[in-house]
Amino acid sequence: MRDNIIFPEKDALLRLTLMGRQARAFLIRSTRMAQQAADIHQASDVAAAAMGRLLPGSAMLWGLLKEESGRLSVTVDGDGHGGRLHCGVKDGEFKIAVQNPRLELPLTPDGRQDVGRFLGNKGKLIVVKDYSAGDPYTSVSDLVSGELGEDLASYFTISEQTPSLVAVGCLNEAGTVLSSGGILIQAMPGCSDQTLSQLELRIPFFANISREIFDRSLKGLAESWFVDLDPVFLGEEMLTLKCDCSRDRMRRALAAIGREELEKIVETGEETRLTCHFCRTQRGFSAGEVKQMLADSEESYDAH
Ligand SMILES: [Zn+2]
Repeated sequence: MRDNIIFPEKDALLRLTLMGRQARAFLIRSTRMAQQAADIHQASDVAAAAMGRLLPGSAMLWGLLKEESGRLSVTVDGDGHGGRLHCGVKDGEFKIAVQNPRLELPLTPDGRQDVGRFLGNKGKLIVVKDYSAGDPYTSVSDLVSGELGEDLASYFTISEQTPSLVAVGCLNEAGTVLSSGGILIQAMPGCSDQTLSQLELRIPFFANISREIFDRSLKGLAESWFVDLDPVFLGEEMLTLKCDCSRDRMRRALAAIGREELEKIVETGEETRLTCHFCRTQRGFSAGEVKQMLADSEESYDAH
């Protein structure tokens, strides 16, 4: 990992309530994760910005899971040339990948990374929540702009029916992520109109969220933004970029490509190398090992 992070604070999600639980808020810093993801995928600046916006967005969704052990996957499937952007989270550990991480695009006229064009504004935001019991729960919403902030706000408002204010941002240039993070504010049932308008008044503060969190602590920021809204801090959780892939899981994926393909590999007598989509770890499987996989699948077939 690079040591050029200017502000030393670790990545985290801060939870708080406002006005006696009339609203809840999450503040997220994801700078380190965004830098690591950019490095792993040797990402262009626009691809790094897309990842640096989806990481805090996924952290919000993860923070709202009802079960701590829940697993979450967020996919942005738009019509942009960047292709599918996918993030998985479990226990505060994130993995992220995008189909075309090296694709570069010119900046927008106002000097921002053109994430909307990279991901596309036609398509879906797909959220899968997988709890330890029961089937995974999938919800889908249409993309609004592909810039991710609006897309996430629309997801919360339409799919989860919770009026939500969302901002996500990433400040990066020439391979360096200076800051990545976001804020989610949700009105709770019984939230007064007065509190709502107080919250709306603060929207301009969040327009440049990555600049705001760049060199301030999350708690310090929340205290200054919400000083008159009775903020109560519920705790801060650490967030890290860490892939959950393993040799065993990769072996199962290889075994699943089918008999014919596996037989072809055995015939070549050469090692097959597989690369994890998320962390780019490469693992090799010898022809002998693949032969054993075929024998094992034969056995399990006979057993049925
Ligand atoms: Zn991996």
